[in-house]
Amino acid sequence: MASVERFMRAIRVSEFGKPEVMKLLTDVPVPSPKDDQVLIRVHACGINPLETYIRAGVMMKPKLPYTPGTDASGVVEEVGKDVKTFKKGDRVFTRDTITGAYAEYTVASEDTVYHLPEQLNFKQGAAISIPYFTAYRALCTFARGKPGDLVLVHGASGGTGIACCQVARAYGFKVFGTASTTEGLNLIQKNGAHKAFNHKEKDYMEKIQVSEAAGGEGVNIILEMLANVNLSNDLKILSYGGRVIVIGSRGTVEINPKDTLYKDSSIIGMGLYNATKDDWKEMAAALYGGMESGWLKPLIGPEYPLEKAPQAHEDIIDKSGATGKMVFVL
Ligand code: NAP
Repeated sequence: MASVERFMRAIRVSEFGKPEVMKLLTDVPVPSPKDDQVLIRVHACGINPLETYIRAGVMMKPKLPYTPGTDASGVVEEVGKDVKTFKKGDRVFTRDTITGAYAEYTVASEDTVYHLPEQLNFKQGAAISIPYFTAYRALCTFARGKPGDLVLVHGASGGTGIACCQVARAYGFKVFGTASTTEGLNLIQKNGAHKAFNHKEKDYMEKIQVSEAAGGEGVNIILEMLANVNLSNDLKILSYGGRVIVIGSRGTVEINPKDTLYKDSSIIGMGLYNATKDDWKEMAAALYGGMESGWLKPLIGPEYPLEKAPQAHEDIIDKSGATGKMVFVL
């Protein structure tokens, strides 16, 4: 007997452009998992700046039409015949999907799906992948820091910044973070930062530099969320041998290269999508350590229904005053 086709609500993008190109359809067929794939009923989905760049057509350019999103969290509905790690009913989160995560159901390859521990809810599950894998890779793999080093999370109040603060604190770093509102400054201090600075204040970089915790030697590592604005100033507050890890940038910036040779300092770019299979394994092991011991606790900020996808994309780029991770709740 032929199986009955089921339909779902999902965001579809048929042309690249402004947020309004994201349309909520109600008649998208529920996808079927192939042999090594998992079908997930999505309960929450992370909203990441990356999805806005892809939708605008400036990065990656998937084949149209497509459903955005990589970071889903929910319950396994069906598994392909070769899937060994998951069964129907398992709580899971993804770091990538095949059919898109801004949808009621998504299909993902088994190797991009992870069990969601009981202590985290679905919204938190949707806030793990891009933020925490990025935080771990930037700090532990690329920055090559050691416990006791001073890390500045430059842009600490958003999804990735909070993750960076938690990872840095858990691994024994001294942690400074920046935000632009009183609420953001309080949140980052509750999530790992020893000290918080307001990046809208004119002299905040001087305050960081002269801070007692910086010990007059400067900042060892800067995890930078907005390099096009901050890179030149970052180089001036680094310690000898200091590193800026560029995580986010939205344009060009002028720097004085001499600022690097004065101090043997480095600027290092980090793109999570370049991670290898072995990198993913190492990162996941570290993050499970955090989930099991309790330091990995995503902070959820604004929540949206799927129909507000265009608004969510505007807010994540244009609105300041971040308070944690933006998510869709389905
Ligand atoms: P988000 O949740 O929108 O947070 C943006 C952060 O930037 C907020 O903390 C915001 O603080 C802060 N910010 C705004 N103006 C700033 C300034 N002048 N100086 C320093 N920080 C400032 O986004 P997210 O998920 O955390 O991602 C942050 C960036 O990293 C994005 O550009 C994203 O594309 C990039 N990213 C890259 C990778 C990668 O693989 N390289 C992975 C993840 C993220 P206020 O709102 O308080 O002002």
